[in-house]
Amino acid sequence: MTECVFCDIIDGSIPGNVVYETEDVVAFLDANPVSRGHTLVVPKKHVEDIHGASGMEFLMDALVKVSDAVEEAFDPEGINIAQNNGEAAGQEVFHLHFHVTPIYEGDELEISYNRSELEDGSEIAEEISKYL
Ligand code: 5GP
Ligand code: ZN
Repeated sequence: MTECVFCDIIDGSIPGNVVYETEDVVAFLDANPVSRGHTLVVPKKHVEDIHGASGMEFLMDALVKVSDAVEEAFDPEGINIAQNNGEAAGQEVFHLHFHVTPIYEGDELEISYNRSELEDGSEIAEEISKYL
């Protein structure tokens, strides 16, 4: 057992419903699913969040494969891909993971942000671009 529940699933010390696995990545069912087929895509290497994911291009490949499989398996109306970084953003498990969440007819989406009209777009874009 480690201090990280996802590392424990990855090393087999606690059970997980694994649906997909490669040398680098594993996908298993969320223990408290939002909907049928809610799956987590997780790099095997323990990194806390997206800021540790440089070079992990294999994650996108796994996300597409798992999304395609969920689509085939359950034919949902739509699929959300979500990924939380930091407590303020709703992260509860501090081992990087992506949620693949099928959305079915009648499901109520609870994703709600207060949106505004973009102002100072060029200033904001420039500030971000400085670091890219
Ligand atoms: P976060 O809020 O960090 O983006 O999402 C963490 C997710 O991990 C939650 O959806 C939660 O249900 C799931 N989770 C927490 N503990 C376990 C566990 O022991 N096993 C599995 N399979 N999922 C877990
Ligand atoms: Zn971990």
